[in-house]
Amino acid sequence: TTGSAEQNAYMEDIERLFTIDTDYLIKIKDHFLKEMDKGLNHDNQTLAMIPSYVEGRLTGHEKGHYLALDLGGTNLRVVLVTLEGQGKFKTISTKARVSEDLKTGPMRNLCEYIADCIDKFLTEQGLENSEEHLPLGYTFSFPVLQSKVGFNCTGAIGKDPVLLLQDALLRKHVPVKITALVNDTVGTLLSNAYQKPDTVAGLILGTGSNGAYVEKIARIGKWKHPTTTSDEMVINMEFGAFDNEKVILPVTRFDNKLDRKSINPHYQTFEKLVSGMYLGEVVRNVITDMMDRNLLFGHQQYTERISSHYRFETSYMSSIEEDASSDLAAVRDILDTDLNLVNVDLVELKIVKRICQLVGTRAARLAAVAIVGILSHADHLHSAVDVGIDGSLFEFYPSFEARIYEAMAELMPNCAHGIRDTIRLGLARDGSGVGAALTACVADKML
Ligand code: ADP
Repeated sequence: TTGSAEQNAYMEDIERLFTIDTDYLIKIKDHFLKEMDKGLNHDNQTLAMIPSYVEGRLTGHEKGHYLALDLGGTNLRVVLVTLEGQGKFKTISTKARVSEDLKTGPMRNLCEYIADCIDKFLTEQGLENSEEHLPLGYTFSFPVLQSKVGFNCTGAIGKDPVLLLQDALLRKHVPVKITALVNDTVGTLLSNAYQKPDTVAGLILGTGSNGAYVEKIARIGKWKHPTTTSDEMVINMEFGAFDNEKVILPVTRFDNKLDRKSINPHYQTFEKLVSGMYLGEVVRNVITDMMDRNLLFGHQQYTERISSHYRFETSYMSSIEEDASSDLAAVRDILDTDLNLVNVDLVELKIVKRICQLVGTRAARLAAVAIVGILSHADHLHSAVDVGIDGSLFEFYPSFEARIYEAMAELMPNCAHGIRDTIRLGLARDGSGVGAALTACVADKML
């Protein structure tokens, strides 16, 4: 970057802090494997390793009408998924606003409202008099511990939202049975699996990060239920919590700062290094630290924006990294337009870009640890496998995918060249739509 001696010394330090070399990646992976084992064999571990009750795998030949219901922060989405076999399907959906009153009022009112929306949608689709009750998979935007597909919701606010909704549907004679309470990661896995039956894992790399994968039931020591229809089950790992003890992850002072000011200090350590919600804030912490030391942006032009938490969005990192021009005009534009930082010189633009690269690369390499950890633990690496990934970080961050492949190759030197043919990462959209409907389909067969 050829900045001042002070800038260069600072950047050398930053390079060292944020770079995870191959040897260290392997160490993290080994620790990840141990933590997976703990979670599979004991309750209340850092990696929760929650059995999803989704057994076996999809073939892609499943057929029929299934519903998905996605209750997010502001919207309610109902999706009708028609599985046509051979990995083909059609979807049609409707959206409705969930008002503040409904969100904060009695659950019963919300359930009535949802039931009415489903009723109206089915009428529009000509399915209101369906003889068979349509199986529905229900996705919440908050994590729920599943203790049986569909019918329990310990950990959610007192009453079982599935039972309340099912009651409302029955009262209104809507021909729908809720067969599954769906975790979005499990949904991602299934939505990928319907089209690609060699799918063994699903990841979310968006606002948050998490993974689910297919595990041998015999290896789930804490699973005490009688034999089932298959010897495999999907596990929702909740891997965002990996290394909450902070014994292995190379957290920096910038990460600690973020953690301390977060709503959940000491929790979701891995997620805070990997996911979209946090990466921009880590970059902002480095930039403001440099400003405090008079190493960036002249005479400490603290703008309100660069001083505001989470004001440096992760999507800026994408745009900044994308700028391959020699004058870094796009980087300048973001600093100016989005952060009100002006009169920035080229060295400073390069420094900002480099910080983004370092934080983004570290995230991708850690995501690679999780993927290789999962696949090697579950012994899935004898033949080529598919991994479905959902989330804007994976979809839009330039070179995020390439960096994951690169790190996976380092972790698996024996297939370094064929890594892309051995572990096929693919964008898996709509885990809470198609994936949830497929979960409902699997659950329906088990009931
Ligand atoms: P969610 O995970 O909430 O379902 P997304 O998958 O869209 O939703 O992820 C949103 C997250 O992705 C946000 O935290 C945002 O910072 C990040 N993000 C959005 N756009 C981009 C982008 N172009 N590049 C990198 N990150 C992005």
